Amino acid sequence: MTSRATAALDALNALSARIGADPLLVQGGGGNTSVKFDGTLWVKASGTWLAQARERDIFVPLPLDEVRAALRHADGETRLARLGDPQALRPSIETSLHALLPHPVVAHVHSVNTIAWAVRADARERLSALLKDLNWAWVPYRRPGYPLTQAVRDVLAEREADVLVLANHGLVVGADDCAAADALLGEVERRLGLPARAPTAGDPARLHAVNDLNWELPSDAGVHALATDAIAMAIARDGALYPDHAVFLGARAAVLQDNDALSDAVARATAAGGVAPAFALLPGAGVLVAPGLSPGAQAMLLCLALVALRLSGDETLVYLGDEDVAALVDWEAEAYRRALSRPGH
Ligand SMILES: [Zn+2]
Repeated sequence: MTSRATAALDALNALSARIGADPLLVQGGGGNTSVKFDGTLWVKASGTWLAQARERDIFVPLPLDEVRAALRHADGETRLARLGDPQALRPSIETSLHALLPHPVVAHVHSVNTIAWAVRADARERLSALLKDLNWAWVPYRRPGYPLTQAVRDVLAEREADVLVLANHGLVVGADDCAAADALLGEVERRLGLPARAPTAGDPARLHAVNDLNWELPSDAGVHALATDAIAMAIARDGALYPDHAVFLGARAAVLQDNDALSDAVARATAAGGVAPAFALLPGAGVLVAPGLSPGAQAMLLCLALVALRLSGDETLVYLGDEDVAALVDWEAEAYRRALSRPGH
């Protein structure tokens, strides 16, 4: 590799590790970054964590012209999946988005502050005021991967943009180099920053008393806010607000009612949703999680708490529809990413 290439990858690793370590920007295996140089697109591998960028190789090299050629076909996603080394890690689900954007460096994050805006029915109007003077665009919700890339292509056909706010999903910034991408990300975060209510502690004794299924406490105590903060609970139990919620946590939580044991609430949620819930809310007391819930899913629970604590309960929120959730849960590429989020990977 040329020294220029080494320097570009070093800078990308540093940026990725920094944003990957910030739970307000990236949770678990979410988010992805890329750099383009000498005809190669280096993009994060699916299922790897940006936070590990300094410890292991998380980037996959792909021939940029071949990726872009694949995008000109209706079955671009299938063509894309055939590129790269079949024995190696798969490139990110969002590779097509990185290839489409003209910027040498692209960072896509699941910014908690951006998500808290991007789930609101009035998001576009509010963001227009907040992001005024930035070269930004709003992208309507599409499933991550090729459908999202096509939506971005439609938006960019109207105008160029360095900042994309993805409805019910997150944020993309593009820049000439990593330093400029980092600065732009910081500027957007500064403008979209929302005050958060402080999480109230959980009540382990009450949780223990209902726990007839031997479920576990969440790995981060901040997650209890999903049941101890009444506004957060109302938001969390109503469905999935963004893709990684649906992929890692499913659409429904179990919610305990008066005198319920955990098994009662889990049975109710399973009957209603067709799949067992990943977590349960005991109002006023806290959260229990299904045994062995992956670190990736645990990170998504914290993300949900951080988002919900930034909403007042007065906003009109837009949830993912049943079809959107089904498309995410059944998607093979996402099953692969979920599997990688389990211990041992
Ligand atoms: Zn994403």
